[in-house]
Amino acid sequence: MFVVSGSSGSGKTSLLQALLATDSRLSFSISYTTRKPRPEEVHGQHYFFVSPEEFQRLLREGRMVEWVQQFGYYYGTSKDWIDQALSQEQDLVFDIEVHGARELKRLYPHATFIFIVPPSLAAVEHRLRQRGAIAEAELADRLRQTQQEWQEVEWYDYLVVNDDFSEALSRLAAIVKASRCRTPFIWPQIKSRFQLRS
Ligand code: 5GP
Repeated sequence: MFVVSGSSGSGKTSLLQALLATDSRLSFSISYTTRKPRPEEVHGQHYFFVSPEEFQRLLREGRMVEWVQQFGYYYGTSKDWIDQALSQEQDLVFDIEVHGARELKRLYPHATFIFIVPPSLAAVEHRLRQRGAIAEAELADRLRQTQQEWQEVEWYDYLVVNDDFSEALSRLAAIVKASRCRTPFIWPQIKSRFQLRS
């Protein structure tokens, strides 16, 4: 499991899309949100866009492993999605903010935690404005949250600075490759070959 956090405007979404396009063993964990889709976003691909009532129903039924309320919307990760991907031996990529990531760290301590930062705060503001109509209040809210999230960077396993897109992408791919060689991941898969006694 690859849990990726990074503030709005860090370029995280584009990096993850590019990463997923080059590695067929990776599946994207599609979150549920009550936010409205942006023009380029597709239901069932970027998010499952649901009403607040539907989100509450999923919560009541215990179908979320973690969830947050931010910018006035709910975001949550589906338990079914994780179980299904893991049973198909797919590696899952999560795009979630720091509170959700902390919760996943508690539940799945062997997952790989990656934080993506833009080169500066000014770059975040620039990217958010470029993305199109955003209310000043939401922009200020997202910038404030960005700064709060950066306080959490230190407990992540890897930090990728998105100063140059293709360089950042190749660092991400290297992290994925290295993580697949970590002992807790690979040893259970191959241990039986060595006929150890216990
Ligand atoms: P956006 O509205 O820009 O798509 O996402 C806002 C923030 O919500 C991003 O930092 C993204 O990583 C986070 N996010 C998206 N889905 C989830 C989720 O299922 N759980 C949590 N905790 N955060 C999420």
